Amino acid sequence: MRILVIEDEAKVASFIRRALEEESYAVDVCADGAKGLELASAGCYDLVILDLMLPGLPGIEVLKTLRKDQVSMPVLILTAQSQVNQKVKGLDAGADDYLTKPFAIEELLARVRVLLRRGSGEAAGVLQIDDLVLNPATREVTRGGRRVELTTKEYALLEYLMRNAGRVLTRSMIAEHVWNQDFDTFTNVIDVYVNYLRNKIDRGQDRKLIHTVRGSGYSLKAE
Ligand code: CA
Repeated sequence: MRILVIEDEAKVASFIRRALEEESYAVDVCADGAKGLELASAGCYDLVILDLMLPGLPGIEVLKTLRKDQVSMPVLILTAQSQVNQKVKGLDAGADDYLTKPFAIEELLARVRVLLRRGSGEAAGVLQIDDLVLNPATREVTRGGRRVELTTKEYALLEYLMRNAGRVLTRSMIAEHVWNQDFDTFTNVIDVYVNYLRNKIDRGQDRKLIHTVRGSGYSLKAE
């Protein structure tokens, strides 16, 4: 899951980035409203966290333009305590939720989880393909009831594959959702990580779940 943070206060932005990256989200940070709008419009984000007071273009205008252009990913706005009326304006302009600064990082993470879940139309939260189970709330993964230990990047990749089970995912789709914009698509990092996952998920199993689609990419599905 890839998240764009549009926030000009460097301290707040890096605090949010660190917390989200620890939860294995791919994160891009942008400090300017106009640049942020450009990035968000490119459309490969699963969620946008948007500050309202921004240089370049005010957050409210970023939001209005996105919604006018039918860009529909969830948007969480950040407002200062003194801007209660801004919060109302933000929700009216198409924000899905808001947080008032200062906020506890746990609260931000909880809201992010809810918005992403809502965005993917998923009800119960737990993802299951065959006997592979991933619980986004606890970040616990099991195969055949046995706990599988994953690094944050492996977890992010697996979650993306499972949320899109049965679909063929190209390397560039995977790069866009699991890595951030600094990612160099000419490397074989994705193949390396898919192999790490295979070793942990499929090795020694009769039924393989991670499939290579020759010339295209990868697909996770039950045989
Ligand atoms: Ca600001």
